[in-house]
Amino acid sequence: MGSTQPGRSTYIGENAVTPEEIERAVEEGMPQTVEDLRRLVAIPSVAFPGHSEVPVLEAAALVERLLRAAGLPHVRQIPIEGSFPAVFAEAPAPDGAPTVLLYAHYDVQPAGDLALWRTPPFEPTVVDGIMYGRGAADDKSGVITHVSALRAFNGRFPVGVKVIVEGQEEYAGERLEAFVEANPDLLRADAMVIADVGNPQVGDPSLTTSLRGMAAFTVEVRTLAEALHSGAFGGAAPDALAALMRMLTALHDDQGNVRVPGLESGVFPGTAPSEEEFRALAGVLDGVSLVGGGSLADRLWASYAITVTGLDVPTVTGAINAVQAVARARVTVRIPAGGNARQALNDVTAFLEKVAPWGVKVSFGDFVSGSGFQIEPGGPAMNAAERALERAFGRAPRQVGQGGSIPLVAALARQFPKAEILLYGAEDDGASIHAPNERVVLEELRRIITTEALFLADYGGWHGAA
Ligand SMILES: [Zn+2]
Repeated sequence: MGSTQPGRSTYIGENAVTPEEIERAVEEGMPQTVEDLRRLVAIPSVAFPGHSEVPVLEAAALVERLLRAAGLPHVRQIPIEGSFPAVFAEAPAPDGAPTVLLYAHYDVQPAGDLALWRTPPFEPTVVDGIMYGRGAADDKSGVITHVSALRAFNGRFPVGVKVIVEGQEEYAGERLEAFVEANPDLLRADAMVIADVGNPQVGDPSLTTSLRGMAAFTVEVRTLAEALHSGAFGGAAPDALAALMRMLTALHDDQGNVRVPGLESGVFPGTAPSEEEFRALAGVLDGVSLVGGGSLADRLWASYAITVTGLDVPTVTGAINAVQAVARARVTVRIPAGGNARQALNDVTAFLEKVAPWGVKVSFGDFVSGSGFQIEPGGPAMNAAERALERAFGRAPRQVGQGGSIPLVAALARQFPKAEILLYGAEDDGASIHAPNERVVLEELRRIITTEALFLADYGGWHGAA
């Protein structure tokens, strides 16, 4: 670091300044980028109940070190009430330059069924320029995008920088929402980048302008004091599992449309993949139809979707001949951008109570809710990001919706109504996030890192079409 304060647009030094220098710095940094990502993905930072907390904290510590190594002068862990620490970093804004908040999360989904993975989930493996591993895309690619983009500037940033890397997004992200509300000054920025989404396809640049929200709950059905022999009692004794299945089945009509009153489907004003592309992407088996009505974009981005994500019932191998006294299900509801997550929770739970047969005892718990988000285009940060995407990918970006939920985004939008929120990232639709064989395409990651570095320089007034 030199001792004189360089002019923002004229400084030429060890840090990248021109678009060409920025592209080169990112390119030359890629071996380090891949190594950083590999180290991070190797840590099983699953912040779910029942998983060890040690690796989660280990991941936080590594993120802290990576941000320091990226040239940020102030880096620390911040405790989050009832959750894992967030890693926070900042560098002051050069005179007159805006401040950008960069967000990602370091926790990951559980690996799920190990038999479905072709490589071990926490042994990151690179094959043909693609890194496989749990979290390689969601969202450790986002963490590494920020680290690598910032590193290109060698400690002299074109904008004020704030980085927050959250530690429990996948399980209880709403805890960070409360933190945002309680600490507005810490996170205040002119633009906020959420690097936890991706392009529809590798090499097809996009900005996400609409996000679904999510609500989830556990439903429990009780019918008997205890399970009963199905030979002696079956046929008359009320089976909790049968009751629960009837209730869950009632959530959709025969075509697969949600039939809960209040959760009407909507219309998305943008482009979506074709049914053929979607079938290929989703791996839908020949002869099996898609579900729901309306266009794909309507179904994926503008309508409610209900999925039963877990059941507490006897396993097939553990099955005994019994009528069940209790059964539980985890139910998630995806909320379109304009919808209200809490209202949807009320609607779905009220509906389940209404359709419960035989007077069974129904209770609900473990609620999670986060609203969706709709971006208004046309601000200076969004324009700079679009220029950066176009340069990094060699083609103009388009605006898309995303089915995934990021509860924090709605909280940020509420808390900072003037801030521009940008969503991009290396999690293309084929990245298998939350699924076996999650992967990130390293060339896509390089383009996203380049995008971010170009965006920061452009938005900071170094160059671009300002
Ligand atoms: Zn994520």
